Amino acid sequence: MEWESDVPLAALARYRIGGCARRLARPDTIDEVKRVLAALEGGAHLVLGTGANVLISDDGVDEPVIILGRDFDRLTVSEGAIEAGGAARLPALANAARRQARKGFRFLEAVPGTIGGGLRMNAGSRDEWLWHRVEWVEAVDDGGEVVRIASNDAGFRYRHVDLPESWIFIGARFQAEPGDPMLIEDAHLDFRSRKVGDQVYELPSVGSTWKNPGDPHGSAWEIVDRVGMRGARLGDAQIAERHANFIVNHGDARAEDVVELMIETRRRAHEQLGVWLEPEIRFWGFAHDRLVALGAA
Ligand SMILES: Cc1cc2nc3c(=O)[nH]c(=O)nc-3n(C[C@H](O)[C@H](O)[C@H](O)COP(=O)(O)OP(=O)(O)OC[C@H]3O[C@@H](n4cnc5c(N)ncnc54)[C@H](O)[C@@H]3O)c2cc1C
Repeated sequence: MEWESDVPLAALARYRIGGCARRLARPDTIDEVKRVLAALEGGAHLVLGTGANVLISDDGVDEPVIILGRDFDRLTVSEGAIEAGGAARLPALANAARRQARKGFRFLEAVPGTIGGGLRMNAGSRDEWLWHRVEWVEAVDDGGEVVRIASNDAGFRYRHVDLPESWIFIGARFQAEPGDPMLIEDAHLDFRSRKVGDQVYELPSVGSTWKNPGDPHGSAWEIVDRVGMRGARLGDAQIAERHANFIVNHGDARAEDVVELMIETRRRAHEQLGVWLEPEIRFWGFAHDRLVALGAA
């Protein structure tokens, strides 16, 4: 495995936005992951799944970027469980559960990304999350050791898990009890059609921009709407007309356009409604003052 230099990240990230990674590695095996971490000698790194939840700066990122390769893209269904590698796709997990009639995975329909990214973000719907299905997760820790964590020890909550940011999730075992095939098929199709109908799939985005602030403020999209930002456009970045919590890329959007739209939305939400919106998406390569303005510092 070779380190690659000056790799354009826009081509590797779902948003199609962002500059270069100065260094990038695609380890195919656990030994290669360990070698990559050893070469970094404890220095910071970033792990990229499909970038379905990351906004990458136009200037790129200084930290070395790691993308899990071949051995981590695997998925097996067994009695009562599904095991998947960190690079396997969330849609593959949803499909396997639906086709093999396993309960409890409908919330993953139409959620793009990898198992690793899904575990880091605790991907899911408002009240059903990936970590609810976890039996155990394997990660490579800072010291290059493989550790196994049970879901009870992970300290997960809405779109968050209390495990070190530097850990690399390499695989997981999910509880997947058999159920009624017809009921499961219907639940998946119903969930998918509602989600695809409500949200935006025809243009690149990173999904929900803001976390839902909860009572008494309601949903994030309602707040964006109420402060008059639905449809606002800067360059090729636009707050979607159909779903005001999505910011889409019409083709050549710059990260800075997305950031400006977000900062203005957040400013108005605080000024007009007294709520500080908190981003759901991750930011790579931005200066501290920008992160402060975005509520992501
Ligand atoms: C159209 C659309 C719909 C969406 N709908 C939903 C939804 O319903 N629910 C929801 O929760 N999200 C949703 N999202 C967001 C996104 O799908 C999820 O956050 C998904 O988990 C991102 O996975 P990824 O592999 O692309 O992660 P990335 O975006 O690549 O990374 C996200 C974070 O995870 C970290 N990470 C990635 N891989 C690993 C790894 N192997 N080990 C450790 N850390 C890792 C990254 O460093 C980063 O911090 C949606 C996005 C889109 C574009």
